[in-house]
Amino acid sequence: MQLTAPATGTTPLDIFEERESSVRSYCRSFPALFASAKGSLITDAEGRSYIDFLAGAGALNYGHSNDTLKAALLEYISNDGLTHGLDLHTVAKEMFLRELTTRILEPRGLDYKVQFTGPTGANAVEAALKVVRRATGRTGVFAFMGGYHGHSLGALAATANRTHRAAAGTDLGGVTFIPFPAGPMRDVDTLAYLRAILEDAHSGIEIPAAVILETVQAEGGVNVAPVEWLRGLSAICAEYGILLVVDEIQTGCGRTGPFFSFERAGIVPDVVTLSKSISGYGLPMALTLMRPELDVWEPGEHTGTFRGNQLAFVTGAAALAMFEEEHFTERVEENATFIARELFETIGMLDGRIEIRGIGMIWGIDTAAIDPTGALAKEIGRDCFNRGLIIERTGRNDTVIKLLPPLNIDRANLRLGLGILAASVSSCLHR
Ligand code: PLP
Repeated sequence: MQLTAPATGTTPLDIFEERESSVRSYCRSFPALFASAKGSLITDAEGRSYIDFLAGAGALNYGHSNDTLKAALLEYISNDGLTHGLDLHTVAKEMFLRELTTRILEPRGLDYKVQFTGPTGANAVEAALKVVRRATGRTGVFAFMGGYHGHSLGALAATANRTHRAAAGTDLGGVTFIPFPAGPMRDVDTLAYLRAILEDAHSGIEIPAAVILETVQAEGGVNVAPVEWLRGLSAICAEYGILLVVDEIQTGCGRTGPFFSFERAGIVPDVVTLSKSISGYGLPMALTLMRPELDVWEPGEHTGTFRGNQLAFVTGAAALAMFEEEHFTERVEENATFIARELFETIGMLDGRIEIRGIGMIWGIDTAAIDPTGALAKEIGRDCFNRGLIIERTGRNDTVIKLLPPLNIDRANLRLGLGILAASVSSCLHR
């Protein structure tokens, strides 16, 4: 087989401009032709390597081309294991469910039924919102200002960003937004507000089926919900018979330290969504976990062709074993201490208006107090890229630089990446 080469006089990037939809996004911030990736490094076709503090937007917690996961995958493929299996019972799926049960759920005293949804995070959220409505017979859902749950219509209805919502081209209903206790609404007593809405028969707002939240709003600007607040929210939900849905799509799989981010508050959600790093190797896979009594589905009611990515089951099973055996929680906690110290001692000293916040290995450098338009953050992101660091912007007007390195990044590359970031912030502040 002979593949076509780029036409004379064109560069390999021209075809993207010419042929790919303008909806593409990340590639605009990182304009290179990437060819290979290993660990925390991603390398372009010309051989230039970048430190990756984006990590597939949280889909690569174990780094690129992780050797343990790759070995499991190669062995499975070389034995002609099924690649596609709809939702048939397969050896790969059995292995994944077993590891999830014995390594993650049972040790935490969690008893969830596992729904394999379509392979995106948004589809796990769709399933969660459908099932809570079915199980309670109520239609309303409460979500949080600054929250992000994906772009399919049901998930988008619970996503706060106006630009994203406008792209729906239709009404997005059924969701009431409540202020989140971190970020721009941090001074509002959100639990008192929530309780008032629920208690007041004249609030005009029905008791919802569920409340959906991220314990750390990632796309909303790295807003970390306080532990006491999470406990208070969980108690209010229990009091009013409202189901608690925790979206762990970006915060799960150890990103904040424990496997689930809600563990730090000692709460137990009724429903949990997982995706991104659950397959470990960047392969598409998404899950909705629910208390067994909430599993009110009839067979095939939330179906789809790609609910059985066998390759993702294989790497996912190996990743769960690795998470436990290689003590990822402890490693994240050690890295978190190092990251926090470096950020506060370098970037924090540059300008008192910069706010640094985060937990585990998700951190944000908020530049909104200096430039609320996001132009400064954009310049920092571009400067980082030119210096060899890939890092994303997030939050209101993309004013927050978000650090999301692989959890197992080695100390040398972590230090190097943090050094590049500090140098970029410093040079952009002084331009
Ligand atoms: N929920 C959260 C918290 C997310 O961060 C994301 C994606 O960034 C999603 C849902 C949607 O996942 P996907 O992009 O795979 O549809």
